[in-house]
Amino acid sequence: MPGGGSGPRPAANCGTPGWHHIRTLRNGSARHATPERRTPFSDKNKPMHLTNLTLANEIGANSYLLETAGGNLLIDSGMNPKAEGGDALPDFRAAGDRDVQSILVSHAHLDHSGSIPVAMRHFPGAPVFMTELTARLVDAMLHNSVNVMTSQRDEKGIQDYPFFSHGEVDDAVDKWIETRVGRASEVLPGVHVEWFDAGHIPGSAGIGLRSGGKSLFYTGDVQFEDQCFCRGADFPERPVDVLLMETTRGATDRATHFTRSAEIERFAAVVRETFAAGGSVLVPVFALGKTQELLLMLHEAKESGLIPADAPVHLGGLGTKLTQIIDRFRGDIRRRRPELDLLRDTGVKLRSRKKRGPLQIEPGGIYALSSGMLMENTTSNEFASRFIDKTANSICFVGYSDPESPAGALLATEPGGDVVLDHRRPPVPLNCRVEKFDFSGHATREQLLEYACRLRPATVVLVHGDGDALDWFQAGLARDLPETQVVIPPPGERVELVRA
Ligand SMILES: [Zn+2]
Ligand SMILES: [Zn+2]
Repeated sequence: MPGGGSGPRPAANCGTPGWHHIRTLRNGSARHATPERRTPFSDKNKPMHLTNLTLANEIGANSYLLETAGGNLLIDSGMNPKAEGGDALPDFRAAGDRDVQSILVSHAHLDHSGSIPVAMRHFPGAPVFMTELTARLVDAMLHNSVNVMTSQRDEKGIQDYPFFSHGEVDDAVDKWIETRVGRASEVLPGVHVEWFDAGHIPGSAGIGLRSGGKSLFYTGDVQFEDQCFCRGADFPERPVDVLLMETTRGATDRATHFTRSAEIERFAAVVRETFAAGGSVLVPVFALGKTQELLLMLHEAKESGLIPADAPVHLGGLGTKLTQIIDRFRGDIRRRRPELDLLRDTGVKLRSRKKRGPLQIEPGGIYALSSGMLMENTTSNEFASRFIDKTANSICFVGYSDPESPAGALLATEPGGDVVLDHRRPPVPLNCRVEKFDFSGHATREQLLEYACRLRPATVVLVHGDGDALDWFQAGLARDLPETQVVIPPPGERVELVRA
């Protein structure tokens, strides 16, 4: 789908009415099965199987073992940001004696890439494919992850940590094979793979695959609409046998009159009002994706006079390093405003490396600090502990906040109540203004359902979503694509996707 901000075309009920063929596998049981009534594939075709290596049907350590006629592939190798120790890894042992000959990685968020060195240990000799920018970003993310895991081992006594060393990351990087969006290649004899811009974060890709007369498309994480920085996804629309689809926002009902530009104006109004009250604005922000979106959004808000042109924007945490990498690919990726180097041209203030001690809070400033969910031991968490008790300040959340995270705890706190931001420090009174915005890097559930309808796959596999989200998609597909088999793959179970 070409990115143009218009989103997918509306699709009504696009299935064939009157015949239901929904087979849902979940927790090992077939919930709603009807007899097979068609054989869409000829005998020369080979079957395709998938084993979900994620420990639960959730947004966790995403990883899928795909068996094709040409060989076995691992799709993504994530680490669960909400789990600790061995529970944060995919269950590679569920592969049993099936070897993996090739590893494909959709994008650099850790829930898709955080366990790559562990996967490479399990499946030595399997080359790892990802886009060039994703490779550079994963390199930086994994090194940062070693540091985070090492401090967690020291603080919490998690002996499994770190899962790998800096040296192992360096060795792993040398063995990666960089690919490009729009390029097709044969990753194994008879397995053809093509990469498509997913519009989710810089470097992100959807993956098309053909083997043994069967085709599969994996959305990875996808956003069909233009964001501030990333252009909307440019996905193929040709029919496929299997659609492996994320379902992140399946339980999220977007406001009917939502527009991104209205959301930006609401954000700008909070900035102006906070400055007028003599305060500052803290935006806890995910280092990868959301930081770059925010920097360009603030720059354009200054250009159009929505916020004062001289408002200092302070950047801190891992986001600085990742933005540097993304700036190096300025002309090579589909993005808005490719003429702008975010760090050089937007006037963002970076901390001098020589400066030690906490970042000072100055009135009339905007602080874009990672992490996005105020996780302990991060720049945004430490800063927030000195910031949220002042009534003139505002804290603005622009991404997902897990209810279990410090950001979730803050959002659940009434004004004037106390928040535990760090279990080692006393609670902090919440006196500042709190606002939440929808700048999601994920497609709406309606857009994803419409996309599935256009591809008319024989099988849809639903992944990367919590229970309510999966339920919504399951019901929507049963209604709109009644001939399609819907699979919610039970963790660790081998599921047949298409028959021989
Ligand atoms: Zn992602
Ligand atoms: Zn994800």
